[in-house]
This record gives sequence, structure tokens and C-alpha cells, in this order.
Amino acid sequence: MSFEKYYEAFRAYSDIYSDEYRRRIETLEPLLMKHMPSRGKVLDLACGAGGFSFLLEDLGFQVIGLDSSEAMLERARKFAADKGSKVEFVKGNAKELPFENNSFDYVLFIEGLVHFEPRELNQVFKEVARVLKPGGRFILQFTDLRELLPVLINGTVVGAEYWISRVLTDEEEKTVLIEFQSEKESFRVRFNVWGKTAVEMLAKLYFGQIHSENINEHTYFQVYVPK
Ligand code: SAM
Repeated sequence: MSFEKYYEAFRAYSDIYSDEYRRRIETLEPLLMKHMPSRGKVLDLACGAGGFSFLLEDLGFQVIGLDSSEAMLERARKFAADKGSKVEFVKGNAKELPFENNSFDYVLFIEGLVHFEPRELNQVFKEVARVLKPGGRFILQFTDLRELLPVLINGTVVGAEYWISRVLTDEEEKTVLIEFQSEKESFRVRFNVWGKTAVEMLAKLYFGQIHSENINEHTYFQVYVPK
């Protein structure tokens, strides 16, 4: 089952007006403000429904949102039309960005790691370093799924409508197949499992870290500059 079903089911990612999405924005806004001190050009990488693109546009940044999913881009463009937003939403692959070298002051990458295997994430980081201007900033938010796995395996309820009914990992815990269940249906999604240490080791190839903090127990907010 494609991950698009997962995003459709969870309003935290698909509906920028939902309480769940708004909470994510409220949590990140002060951190973004602190670590994006001057206005400039932003790439919202794997932008999904575009909530963070709109936030930054409202704060005075020039924003391009990129995502590989037509369904997510369709949502983002609909929200943009509603809001009269000028954010440009582009279909593309984070592993091969359709932008010139040194094009952006900031690249934002929020909760996107789970879609990439190690070799692919290496390509993504390399591309981010290429399109950032010297002195630009790479702003990363991710959940440490490696730490979270035991919690998931213990069967935590994740939302009002869906709960996790099965968690299957491969032998080396590189990926996890999660089955979501509701009264009406169930579906499965496979995610790549990333831990903080692995992310930092890979990032070190292309960036220097200038900030790292916990947003909650398993979620990190980090800022990097290209080498
Ligand atoms: N950053 C947005 C947010 O926080 O609301 C969306 C996050 S969502 C968890 C991850 C997004 O990554 C999805 O919209 C998905 O379509 C996108 N994605 C997955 N693989 C991608 C790829 N290869 N290139 C670009 N985007 C991708």
C-alpha cells in the first residue's frame, strides 16, 4: 500500500487547517524564527500539503515547495488557491533536485527521512548541499524511529480513528511495516527506520551541525550549514 493512503488518513499531514497540523506548526514556528534570522529563498523539501511553505511565505520568505506525490501537490495547490498564496509547488524527486547550484538560503526538510533508504538519503543530503548557497542553512526535523520502535511494538493507539494493529520489522530493523486499523479498514505502510546517530553520521559528509534540540522525546530539530 502506498504511503499516500497513510497521509490521507492522518490529518496531521493532509489538512493544514486541522488541529493536528496546526499543533505541528505552532511547535516549529518559534524554532524556525530563531534559526532563520534573515529573509530569503526557501526550498520546502517534501512539502506535502504545504503548511510550512505557507507559514514561511506569511513571514516574508520566498518559498518553493517540492514533493514527489501528485496527490500531496494537488492538496497544496488547492490550499494555495484558497489562501491566494504565491508559493510555487513543483513536482520533483528530493534525490535529484531540479534547481541550480547555490539557489537557496534555506532548505527545510520536515519528517521526510522515513521515505529514504540510506543510499537515497545520502543522495538527498548531497543535493541539499548543492542547492544551498554558501552559508545557507539546512533545517531538519525528524522522528527517531529506532527509539520509537519499542513504543510502537507495544501497541500504542495513534489517533481517534486509526490504531496500530501490527508492527513488523526486518531483521536489521532497517525498515518497519506498520499496519493501521480503523473500524472500517486496515492498511500497511513501510517506513525506513532512522536513528539520530545514523542521520548525523550521514549529514557530517556534507554539513556542519550548528544546532540540535529535542522537540519531544523522540523528535529532533537540527540546523546544518554546508561544508
Ligand atoms: N514536510 C511536510 C509536512 O511536514 O507536512 C510533509 C511531510 S510527509 C511526512 C513526507 C512527504 O515526503 C510526503 O508528502 C511525500 O509525498 C514526500 N516524499 C516522499 N518521497 C519523496 C521524494 N523522493 N522526493 C520528494 N518528496 C518525497
